Parts: sequence; C-alpha cells; structure tokens
Amino acid sequence: MIIHLNNSVSAQTANEIGEHLKAIVFKEADYYVLVTPFAQKDIPTSVQAHVQSSWPMDSDIQLASKNYKSELRRIRWGNTEIGGDTDNTVVIAGPCSIESWEQIDATARLLKSLNISTLRAGCYKPRTSPYTFQGLGLEGLKMLAEVRRQYGLNIITEVKDSSHIEEVIEYTDIVQIGAKAMYDQSILRRCGEIRKPILLKRGFGTTLQEFVQAAEFILSGGNSEVILCERGIRTFETKTRFTFDLCGAAWLKQHTNCPVILDPSHAMGYAYGVPDLAKASVAFGCDGLLIETHPNPKLAKSDAAQQLDFEVFTKLMGDMRNIAVAVGREII
Ligand code: PEP
Ligand code: MN
Repeated sequence: MIIHLNNSVSAQTANEIGEHLKAIVFKEADYYVLVTPFAQKDIPTSVQAHVQSSWPMDSDIQLASKNYKSELRRIRWGNTEIGGDTDNTVVIAGPCSIESWEQIDATARLLKSLNISTLRAGCYKPRTSPYTFQGLGLEGLKMLAEVRRQYGLNIITEVKDSSHIEEVIEYTDIVQIGAKAMYDQSILRRCGEIRKPILLKRGFGTTLQEFVQAAEFILSGGNSEVILCERGIRTFETKTRFTFDLCGAAWLKQHTNCPVILDPSHAMGYAYGVPDLAKASVAFGCDGLLIETHPNPKLAKSDAAQQLDFEVFTKLMGDMRNIAVAVGREII
C-alpha cells in the first residue's frame, strides 16, 4: 500500500511511522510517501490521523502503477520533455560506443543538423566477452562533456557497474542502466537517490513484472523520473538478434505510469531492419526511440551490424516525422 502523509508531518514522525509500518519512506514535493506491506485495516488509528491519502495495491508494482498515478510521469532534461500531457516522441541517437573525438564530433554535428537534442554513446560497455572493446571510460565521459559544451546537446550514457557510477552520474544528463545491469541493486538504489532521469532497459530474459519491479527500486528511493526501455527479449528465434516485444511495450503503456522508449537497434541487431521497426515504433505511439548511428558502421568497435549510417538515419528521421504527424505525436 502507498500512503501520502499530511505535509505538516515532520521527517522524524514520518520515519517513526515508517518503522512501525515496515515501510520504505521518501520525500516527494512537500510530503512524505510510505510504501508499506501493511493493509488498510492494519493501519493504527494514531497513524491514520497523519494520512492524507492512501492506495491499497495488490501487487509489488506500486509506485509505477497506473492505479497509483494514472497520468504518465513527466520527465524533463534540458529543454526536452516527454510524458505528462505532451505528445512528444524523443529520438535519442548516437553510436553504440564513443570511440574517438572525430567520431563523436561528426555524430554531434549530424544530430544538431536534424534538430535532435539528446546524444547517446556508451563509455563503459557491458560486453559479453572480456576480449573485445570495453569502452573509453572516463576519457569518453570527458569527450561527451565537451560535446555538451560545444553543441548544447544533452547526454545519455550507460552505467555498467558500481565502480564508476559516481563518474557517470556526474557527467551525464540521463543515466542509462543497460539490459545486463538492470538487476544490479547497488546501481538501482543509487539511481533512486539522485535527481536525474534514469533510462532503465529491460533485460533480455526479464519478465515485465521483474522489469517494473526493478523500476520500483529507483522510484521507492525517491527518484520519480524513470523511463522504461524495451530493447528486445530472447526467444527461440535466432535469425534476428532478439525479438522486439511490442506486446510487452503495450502492456507497460497500459499498466505503468512511466514513459516507454523503444530500441529497435538492439532488438533487430541488423541495420537493414531498423528503419522499418523505428517507423512502426513511432506509429505505436512510444514516448521515444533509441537508435544507434555511426559515421562508418563497418568500423564500429561494438554493435557494428546494427548501426545506421548517417544517410539512412537522416532519411529515417524525415519518415518518422511524417508518421508522427499521422498519429498525433511530435518527434523532438
Ligand atoms: C547499448 O545500449 O548499447 C547496450 C549495450 O544495450 P543493452 O543494454 O540493451 O544490451
Ligand atoms: Mn549497442
């Protein structure tokens, strides 16, 4: 059950009540929020006097549930805004990994020319093999900071493990938690403590319930800005890299209050399929897309097969803008 206490309730009283109700306690706006396993009937009368509103919940999907907040969470970074009552579909683009200044500079110029506000590039790569390119680390973060300074772009980059989480939080505008790290509770809990949007990617073997429960770790830490990202799940199919779970995305849209971003690049794994899937995603009415693009995909140090070259990506942007108009949305 979720409880909002009256805004006159002090931190000390909120914590005492929280302890009594075995609740997670955090502050939102000017009041405290409690998430407790107690049922309504078990709340003592002395506590009820401090309760402003409460929502009984029948599952562990609580703060992310539409039954709690029926309106979509509004999430803002820089001048970019999604969710709430906007009809915005944000395109977040860039290479899988930042590899050099020349590469990221060329990408930043392309994004600026296409009126895209947010550049994504990985610095700490959660590779499947220890023998492949692992990312530029802090050097990459510094280049992203320079891109932000020179081009006024917002930055999203991934945290892979807790060893570099503070660096990523310091440099980035949005923290990406990848498919492999989404079960890491030290990352989830730390992201709950900060006040920056978090893009949480669904693990490829993760049920929708587990995915949203991971989001609950962040939300119950007091960070209300969680974006969910469907990036393909593993099925019996091997011809494509993963299976794009649009049914799952529809379920998330129906049942959760977090904006949903779709990532056709990682789902498909091959550049040839990405434009069609991206267009379908816009028609689907998602809150954003994550698309990998690289000045020379053949030379990419990670995910080479799926990255779009600039020509294909530029054409896709035009097509997506047209489709967005047809479904009452705006590509930003
Ligand atoms: C990525 O976004 O480049 C990435 C590693 O994706 P995922 O975590 O979805 O595999
Ligand atoms: Mn990638």
